[in-house]
Amino acid sequence: MDDNNNPEHIKYMKKAYAQALHAYENGDVPIGCVIVHEGRIIARGYNKRNLKKTTLAHAEILAIEQASRKLGDWRLEECVMYVTLEPCQMCAGAIVQARIPEVVIGCMNKKAGCAGSIINLLDMKQFNHQVKTVYNVMEDECSALMKSFFADLRAGRIGKKPDDEKRLVCQPVKRSMCQMVKKTDMSAEEEADVSAGKKG
Ligand SMILES: [Zn+2]
Repeated sequence: MDDNNNPEHIKYMKKAYAQALHAYENGDVPIGCVIVHEGRIIARGYNKRNLKKTTLAHAEILAIEQASRKLGDWRLEECVMYVTLEPCQMCAGAIVQARIPEVVIGCMNKKAGCAGSIINLLDMKQFNHQVKTVYNVMEDECSALMKSFFADLRAGRIGKKPDDEKRLVCQPVKRSMCQMVKKTDMSAEEEADVSAGKKG
């Protein structure tokens, strides 16, 4: 089985996706993240950059902070991170610093991603830590979410300035995927997952 079809990866990526929807609703670029430790989610995060007015409030950074608080350690050596969009340079750096061994990524960010698109900070032999990466888990869904968000921005359905539109461009998706709006194409089970995530 391909790593990106691994049911475990899909299960947790759905949770990260549910986090991304919170950002979407707030008018922040919809990026979500969860951190799993010994088979349990110990941290969740979604992009709050506009909400908090700080560049540090990326989903991954917020989740790393929460996981470290929970484990009482800055080292997250037994953890797996699931994130809907390829991490930027700041988050990739934090992932390496936290010694997270594995990161599972939804879709790539060709214009700004630092886990393989522009550079792969997660796999630099020069650093003392390398991160195993799994790509394209729920890629269509994660990518369509980004497209939907920026389409909403352009249409004025989200009251924020589309300052990120040029920078954050996901891989092109199939034409049919562009029609997809967050929840409408999800199965009942997925929808339940998203609803559950929203409550938690
Ligand atoms: Zn980031």
